[in-house]
Amino acid sequence: MKLVITLFFIIAQLLKLSAQIHRKIEFPDIAGYHTLISDLHQHTVFSDGSVWPDIRVKEAIFDGVDVISLTEHLEYQPHNKDIPHPDRNRSYQLAKEYAKNKGIIIIHGAEITRDLPPGHSNALFINDANKLVQENYIDAFREAKKQGAFIFWNHPNWIGQNKQGITQLTPTHEVLLEEGLLNGIEVTNENSFADRALTIANEIGLTILATSDIHELIDWLFDIPGGGHRPVTLVFAKERSEIGVKDALFDGRTVAWYQNNLIGQEKYLIPLIKSSLTVDTAYYQMYGNTKTQIANVVISNQSDATYLINNESNFSFYNTTNVVQLNPQTITTLSVKTIESLSSFELKFEILNAIYAKNKHPKVRLEIDIEH
Ligand SMILES: [Zn+2]
Ligand SMILES: [Zn+2]
Repeated sequence: MKLVITLFFIIAQLLKLSAQIHRKIEFPDIAGYHTLISDLHQHTVFSDGSVWPDIRVKEAIFDGVDVISLTEHLEYQPHNKDIPHPDRNRSYQLAKEYAKNKGIIIIHGAEITRDLPPGHSNALFINDANKLVQENYIDAFREAKKQGAFIFWNHPNWIGQNKQGITQLTPTHEVLLEEGLLNGIEVTNENSFADRALTIANEIGLTILATSDIHELIDWLFDIPGGGHRPVTLVFAKERSEIGVKDALFDGRTVAWYQNNLIGQEKYLIPLIKSSLTVDTAYYQMYGNTKTQIANVVISNQSDATYLINNESNFSFYNTTNVVQLNPQTITTLSVKTIESLSSFELKFEILNAIYAKNKHPKVRLEIDIEH
């Protein structure tokens, strides 16, 4: 009995450990760039959130998030009576202080909170949030730009401001765009997806973002213990620094990761998928002493995405249908019916859990070389 109890505790500890390890979000680098995990829209008690800034930093470290910004509402301060803070930079300062020597990048940001249009927008890389408190929205945007900010349109589909939930570019947004006051757009926010925002991002060249917009706890809202993940923006940066992130955001080098979907431009999705999915080995299967014409292709998924792929190759599979699920951080063997023994061949897949435009999925080719 004692042995059973001991074993039970060992297993419980191991499970706990694996859950802790698993919650870190991991995606591989792509050629020439570091893949940084970012969540650039979050709240604390310094606006309408429910936690102190250090909790946001801790949550991000648990999740393996490399870059965060606490973007408190400038114009909406419901906790102001209990937590008066005439200096709107305090949330950033507290997070920055707590994050010291912890390897996480804290970006100074704020949420310009207005009726639609223009709606809510985040200004990142600012140096004084107090100066963004302005009567007229355009003055807040202009001040942010003066401080060198990257500005993006938040939850452009939000039913709180737009009953249809459809993103509409208005003349007000055209004015902001003309003045260079809008650089990016959230295609996903919390638990919503704005398909029109993706179309707009593609049409006018706005940077694609996904954010948690967390107010309570990440674990509760995104069911982390149940295997969920927070929405994040993968940023492809030349260097792991604030400057590297800023440069990448202005250059549009991002992919959004939302409810296991990868959303972004094809030119970033394809390298990301290709560095996630690599062929470990490929060999013809034996039946007794006879070599068959079934090629076992062992594919390693070195990312946290569960890839859902549709076979568009010339060959079908012996062990599965045309739709295959490649689980995260796992290897999967595809048994390919090549009809004759080949030394090399190509597999082609449509990646169903990735999109670059409305209902459009990228396609990737994998070169397979048979081992001898
Ligand atoms: Zn908002
Ligand atoms: Zn917000």
